[in-house]
Amino acid sequence: MTSGKDFLSSRRNTTGKKHANCSFCRKSYREVGPLVEGPEDVYICGNCIELCQSILDTERKRRGTPKALFANVPTPRQIVKHLDQYVIGQEHSKKTLAVAVHNHYKRLMSNQGNEEDCVEIDKSNILLIGPTGSGKTLMARTLAKLLQVPFAIGDATTLTEAGYVGEDVENLLLKLLHAADFDIESAQRGIIFIDEVDKIGKTGQNVSITRDVSGEGVQQSLLKMLEGTVANVPPQGGRKHPEQQFIQIDTTNILFICGGTFVGLEDIISKRMGKKMIGFGSSSTVVDTQKRRGHLLPHAIVDDVIEYGLIPELIGRLPVISTLTPLSEDDLIHVLTEPKNSLVKQYQRFFEMEEMSLEFTPDSLKAIAKRAYERETGARSLRSIVEEVMFDLLFELPEKQKGSKFVITGDMVLGKQQVRPIDDSAAA
Ligand code: ADP
Repeated sequence: MTSGKDFLSSRRNTTGKKHANCSFCRKSYREVGPLVEGPEDVYICGNCIELCQSILDTERKRRGTPKALFANVPTPRQIVKHLDQYVIGQEHSKKTLAVAVHNHYKRLMSNQGNEEDCVEIDKSNILLIGPTGSGKTLMARTLAKLLQVPFAIGDATTLTEAGYVGEDVENLLLKLLHAADFDIESAQRGIIFIDEVDKIGKTGQNVSITRDVSGEGVQQSLLKMLEGTVANVPPQGGRKHPEQQFIQIDTTNILFICGGTFVGLEDIISKRMGKKMIGFGSSSTVVDTQKRRGHLLPHAIVDDVIEYGLIPELIGRLPVISTLTPLSEDDLIHVLTEPKNSLVKQYQRFFEMEEMSLEFTPDSLKAIAKRAYERETGARSLRSIVEEVMFDLLFELPEKQKGSKFVITGDMVLGKQQVRPIDDSAAA
């Protein structure tokens, strides 16, 4: 080996040897510039050094060179505190998730590099039951960000057993691998969120004709992944591995968070609980239905979910069940304003960048929340409603005077008044 000092001196020498060629690509000094000289007349050019570096990086990633996970796994309290900055309400779910996730990564860390006396990791995959737009995906995504682990989202309704039309379960792993920038080791400790698992239940209403009718095949494929298996993932589009047919991913330490709305589960719970739940027998209005769900879902137990149509083995692999409550109109107002990256804050930031200011009156927030609530998609429709309200203004914004002030009122949300700068309206 040549020492660093030798290299430096040899490099100086090299510049003088204008006849030398790179020993790797055979190109001459004139073509590729300065060469680094090794012992016994060996030279390498800058291009080949860069190529070698990228080959080594890719190989290290492929082999999954062990890297430290995190210095410290955040405590459940720290996790809840972080979730509080982004997720409104759902206090019980936040706590349940925080404990499950903390324990999962704590066990994972304690087993790291400790192969001999490695205690088998008890997987704590999680099932989140709650209405659309109540924050299931948001919580999973926020957790992954906090823990700085790769995160992928899949939809159970698009999954199929191998051989049927649709997406293979392995594709979820491919998404995770993409999120990990093809770092296998990092992907193997990531988080996968699978939405709409309730739709693959045996009695699910939305069974597609392109899928096995019972949905049980998909559940079996999912089960394998949740249990922990070494899956062969086809690196579709994975340009970094053109020579490779499959990438092997061990799912043992991947945390799976499954979500579903489980519409109708409240009936199963109510039936099981019988008299104890008098007063929540049936409902007619939107508010009643939401309230009834909100009261009954927290009582869900494993048996209810099995009766709903998920196979017992799958539920057995989702030992942590947590229910999210429907967001009330008041909650939706908080969603609009309180999270660190709330819609109102995002718009205000945007207006600031344009050197203008924007405010929403309490009335306007109420009107937006009311419209969203009526759509029955939780907080999901808030963005499109605010965008509708702001649309004309955003179109004209670049033409407005710097320093303009805009106030969005309830009447503007209801379409009774045009959105314009307050100075304009004063002048009108
Ligand atoms: P789902 O429960 O259907 O998975 P999502 O988590 O995808 O719902 O929510 C959709 C959007 O609505 C999120 O991106 C977020 O902006 C907002 N949202 C939903 N629930 C909450 C909540 N509890 N707190 C704050 N924002 C929320």
